[in-house]
Order: sequence, then structure tokens, then C-alpha cells
Amino acid sequence: MLDITKEYLQKKYKINSKTIGLYDIAIKDVQSEFEKLDEVREYNQLKVLTALQDERISESHFTNSSGYGYGDIGRDSLDKVYARIFNCESALVRPHFVNGTHAIGAALFGNLRPNDTMLSVCGTPYDTLHNIIGITNKKDIGSLKDFGVKYKQLELNNSKVDIDLMKKTMISDKSIKLVHIQRSTGYGWRKALLISEIEEIIKAAKSINPNVICFVDNCYGEFIETTEPTDVGADLVAGSLIKNIGGGIAPTGGYIAGKEEYVVQASYRLTIPGIGGECGSTFGVMRSLFQGLFLAPHVTMEALKGAIFCARIMELAGFDVLPKYTDKRSDIIQAIKFGNKEMLINFIKGIQAGSPIDSFAQCEPWDMPGYEDKVIMAAGAFIQGASIELSADAPIREPYIAYLQGGLTFDHAKIGILIALSKVI
Ligand SMILES: *Cc1c(COP(=O)(O)O)cnc(C)c1O
Repeated sequence: MLDITKEYLQKKYKINSKTIGLYDIAIKDVQSEFEKLDEVREYNQLKVLTALQDERISESHFTNSSGYGYGDIGRDSLDKVYARIFNCESALVRPHFVNGTHAIGAALFGNLRPNDTMLSVCGTPYDTLHNIIGITNKKDIGSLKDFGVKYKQLELNNSKVDIDLMKKTMISDKSIKLVHIQRSTGYGWRKALLISEIEEIIKAAKSINPNVICFVDNCYGEFIETTEPTDVGADLVAGSLIKNIGGGIAPTGGYIAGKEEYVVQASYRLTIPGIGGECGSTFGVMRSLFQGLFLAPHVTMEALKGAIFCARIMELAGFDVLPKYTDKRSDIIQAIKFGNKEMLINFIKGIQAGSPIDSFAQCEPWDMPGYEDKVIMAAGAFIQGASIELSADAPIREPYIAYLQGGLTFDHAKIGILIALSKVI
């Protein structure tokens, strides 16, 4: 970093010299980690490029359909491009999914029937899924439970999926129709599941019941490794377009990918049986969805560099972090344990202060739809709430863990993290 940059940062954001001192150490330490990311990025860029070429995408795919949206070739071709990238039969990529939760919900509601059991093998799933499953304390009308779908959950054992317990559970309960695997950390304190670990879980599940649907919540995981869950046997995956795979360009949406029969069932829950993915006008967003996908391998790695740098500098500052900066990763999330409410809130406020949009806003904990605890979120983003952009959030509960993710450019992530750190040391 140039001296003028440091002086500018110190003058503009009152970043203390201790933070700058830690920066100098951290940035050197992470360089060898960054080199590994460059190689994965290069491969994934090639994968996306060839998928676009093989589907012969042209200007005419940047459609702007209206009404029913019959025969929207942009929409239908993007599905095929995603299916190539995920190395699977079929995909459903839609701006009509309001978020990742909606895509996951369609996948679950579409494929589970009364008296089937959904088995979560990663402990409690991501907070917004609790309403879908029907495991909140509130009366959850319209949940899977309300429709007679049963639910079981296996706790992690030493932060790992307990494969033996999963097998035993599947042997004793023949009603298990779907195994739910969550790749990313969520609001927990564990590392994301590596693709190799997901493969092991799926193989074990299929050894007991080859027909069980292995579903992976792929949020935050796309393009971190050279393979995706569908490369190693996942039947169905889902995620959000305002995370990794939208490349920071997609304005909204979600995707589902996997075996055709399961994707079709899910599409009947996005729209309605008989219509599925064949209707839905695209309001002129197709160019952004294609372009975002093209940029996604690069943007994801910029975000990952931010996470790794954050891990190192926060560790140097004396905080417990997960993953560590040298750990192999499978999502873009960096968890930092503050053990102190005030520090946590100040850190989140610092990220907001470093945002390009709404940097002047003061974030406060609030009751967000779908979440049980109050949540504080820093999201000064071009796309509202986009967490592929630099953002940080935390449920207000002990032990006061902040989850940082995103950064369209590493340069920006760095600045945000320095401002935030300077507010807590
Ligand atoms: C982000 C996320 C979701 C979905 O969240 P949305 O805000 O609805 O897009 C689901 N699961 C995990 C693990 C996530 O990180």
C-alpha cells in the first residue's frame, strides 16, 4: 500500500496506527493463500466461458419478454448454461425467486409429500428455513409441517456431519425422502463443508437408499472450488443470485439445479403445476443475469480474498476467527467472535461506514422477517441486501459472532475491514 493511501485512510476515516501496523503484517501473510485462489478462479472462468459458448449465447438472448413470457429464449438458455456449469440435467434460474430462501423453499415444497421426512444432517438449518420447515416457536401456518411433512435433524459431531448416525437414522426410518445438506456456515460456528465432504455424505446416504434426494443449500458456495455439489452426486442444489453466482450484477433472483424430475417439481412450486418454468416474463434482466454469471468466478474470489485478509488481521488483533486464514474454504463467509455486544455492533457499523452506498447510515439491530433473534446488518450495497457486496451481519445473541462476506473488489473489502477493525481496537 502506498504511503499516500495510508495517510488518506488515516485522515479520512481516523484509522488508528495500530490497525495500519496490523495491516502491514496481515497483507504479507495472506499472499501465498491468494495464489491458490487465482488458480481456482482461472478454472471457473473457463468453465463459465465455455458454457456460454456451447449454448451459442448472442445478443438476441438478452430478451425483454412481457405477459406470460412464453418462449423467452434468454430465460430458457440461461437455464441450460447453468445446467452445464453445474454438470447436471436441468436448472431453473429466475428473477421471480425473491431470494435464496424462496428457491430453497420451492425445492423442498416441490419434492416433499405428506408423511415424507426431511433429514437435516448439519444441525439446525439456516434461520430463514425454520419457517419453511415449521420449527419456529410461532404458529407456522403453511410450513412443510403444516402439510404433514416430517422433519428430523442430526447434530454435528465436532463440527462434522455424523455420517454413521445418518446411516443408522436412514436404516431405521424409511420415510426419509430428502437429506438436507447445508454447505455454508450460516449463523453457526463451523467451517463450510468442502465438496469432498459433501461427496462423502452423499455417497453414504445413497449407499443406504439410492433413491433418497440429496439436496444441498449451496448459498455462498458457488465458484469457491473447481467443482460444485452436483459434480459429486447432489440431486438438487439451490442458491441466491445476489450472492456469488450473480457476480454482483444480477439485480435479484435465485436458482435451482439438478436432476430434471426434481427441478420440474420445484418449478411447480415457483409457479404452478403444468406451468413450471415455461412461463414468466423477464423484465429485461437477462443481460444482467448472463453478465453477472460471467463475472462471478472473479468477483467470488475478490470476496474470498477479503474474507482471508479479514481472518488474518482480526486474528492478529486478538480475536477468535473461523475459518483461519490458512484453512481450505468452501464459502465466502468469515466469522469473527467478539464475545462482547458493543464491539460486535461497532465492527458492523464500521463496515457500513466503509460502504459506497448509505455510508452515512447508522445500522441498528432489528426484527428482520424470517429471523428469530434481532439481527444487525451492514449492507451499503448497489443491490439492496446483496451479500456478494461487502457486508456484515450478526444475530444479537451470545457469543456475539459477526459474519462478514462479500466485496466486489478486494481493494474495497480491505478498506471496509480496516475501518471496522479500527473501531474496535
Ligand atoms: C443466504 C443463505 C440462505 C438464503 O438467504 P436469502 O437471504 O433468502 O437469500 C440460505 N441458506 C444459507 C446457508 C445462506 O447463507
